[in-house]
Amino acid sequence: MDIKALIREVPDFPKPGISFKDITTLLGNAEGLQYAIATLADHCADLAPDYVAGMESRGFIFGTALACKMGVGFVPIRKLGKLPAAVHTIEYDLEYGTDKLEIHQDAYPAGSKVLMVDDLIATGGTAGAAAKLIQQAGGTLVGCAFVIELKDLNGRQHLPNVPVIALVQY
Ligand code: AMP
Repeated sequence: MDIKALIREVPDFPKPGISFKDITTLLGNAEGLQYAIATLADHCADLAPDYVAGMESRGFIFGTALACKMGVGFVPIRKLGKLPAAVHTIEYDLEYGTDKLEIHQDAYPAGSKVLMVDDLIATGGTAGAAAKLIQQAGGTLVGCAFVIELKDLNGRQHLPNVPVIALVQY
């Protein structure tokens, strides 16, 4: 199935010069959505994770579906101040300024194998920070999975040396 054909490209959103990859058109297509999740699950099966962790907020959509498909639990990595119990926090650089992500300290038992999921990797700043957070919380990162990779930005350079899976590349 041609997943790329189901992803809408919106020029100049959220600002001029950005070609936004809109996954709502993929989500709204029943066959496309099932195919995307099944294919991610196939590619990640050998990693045998104990948990899938997904980043707010589009990583929640794909991550939860993937966790269900793989028969493991889901761990949300959230923006600052959203998680109610004790957290680990990481600060990371954006194009302008910084941002923070958090994970519950007791999200999983120490040594758990964790697969990280997001909709898209661009510069890799978000994914690199989330990878560190997963490790801070005592997890062993076993892989990173994305629906979309913007290849020219080489976001993979910010990830540790684990398998990186992307369903489509631009
Ligand atoms: P980055 O930290 O640069 O890898 O950015 C990744 C995050 O920003 C992901 O959570 C994406 O959802 C979002 N993002 C960055 N660039 C785009 C884009 N061109 N289209 C859609 N989402 C994007």
